[in-house]
Amino acid sequence: MSDRYVVIGNPIAHSKSPQIHARFAQQTGEDIAYERLLAPVDGFDAAVREFIAAGGRGANVTVPFKLDAFALADERSARADAAGAVNTLKFDGGRIIGDNTDGVGLVRDIVANAGVPVAGKRVLLLGAGGAARGVVLPLLAESPAELTIANRTVAKADELLAQFGHPALRASRFEHLSGAFDIVINATSASLSAELPPVPVPASVFSSASFAYDMMYGAQPTVFMQLAAMHGAAVRNGLGMLVEQAAESFFIWRGVRPDTAAVYQWLRSQL
Ligand code: NDP
Repeated sequence: MSDRYVVIGNPIAHSKSPQIHARFAQQTGEDIAYERLLAPVDGFDAAVREFIAAGGRGANVTVPFKLDAFALADERSARADAAGAVNTLKFDGGRIIGDNTDGVGLVRDIVANAGVPVAGKRVLLLGAGGAARGVVLPLLAESPAELTIANRTVAKADELLAQFGHPALRASRFEHLSGAFDIVINATSASLSAELPPVPVPASVFSSASFAYDMMYGAQPTVFMQLAAMHGAAVRNGLGMLVEQAAESFFIWRGVRPDTAAVYQWLRSQL
């Protein structure tokens, strides 16, 4: 029988993870079965334990359970601790091991796939929610000259500043941001609204030398990408991050790195 994996969320029908992992398995010859698992909002732990009892080997975790997964894990990686959230669980010898692959997925998509180095750059991170928290440590590991976090609720950006206490890290109000940034990452969920500007940042954060990344993805450029492009920036959406975080989970489970480029191209054609 194939080794069993799931992506757990609520809702979950929209998740592209089963298609991504099916392609990784096909490519690498790994014998896995990967399905969607809808858990009741108050029933995450029971759903995981039931899956483990049925022989499950690992799980991806999505909205709204990343904090529940963090609490459930017996052991956690340093990047899961830094993020305060878990998106990957591995079930090993009766232990539940938690990791977070979102941040490394983002950094790989920016640095390796888009070819934009973070080292020595002025980076602006918009948002301080779950996704933003997960990318702070992997971004700092690339040695940016500066990483400024701006969030609507200022206290949350200040919390991150205090948590990481890194000399390159700053927190700023949207309206106090000054000068153009080399890399601007939208980790807010504001792209869900069709309004321009999606996040109230001064247009001066973008220049023709900027690279703007929206963690959201869709068939059309998001409102954030439209705004950035209007001010001359090169733009990219979060589809590559989705594929890269999945590849890192696959590696954690199977010890094999799949070829992400082929899967990215296929997914793009499906949007
Ligand atoms: P959270 O709900 O944890 O955080 C939402 C963030 O957006 C907060 O910082 C919030 O600010 C901010 N925000 C929401 N609405 C507005 C607004 N109108 N104006 C300004 N700021 C706003 O969400 P996540 O961090 O989990 O997800 C953020 C985005 O990243 C989502 O779009 C998600 O789809 C995407 N994502 C993509 C992934 C990928 O693989 N491509 C992986 C993970 C996430 P405040 O604190 O003030 O409320």
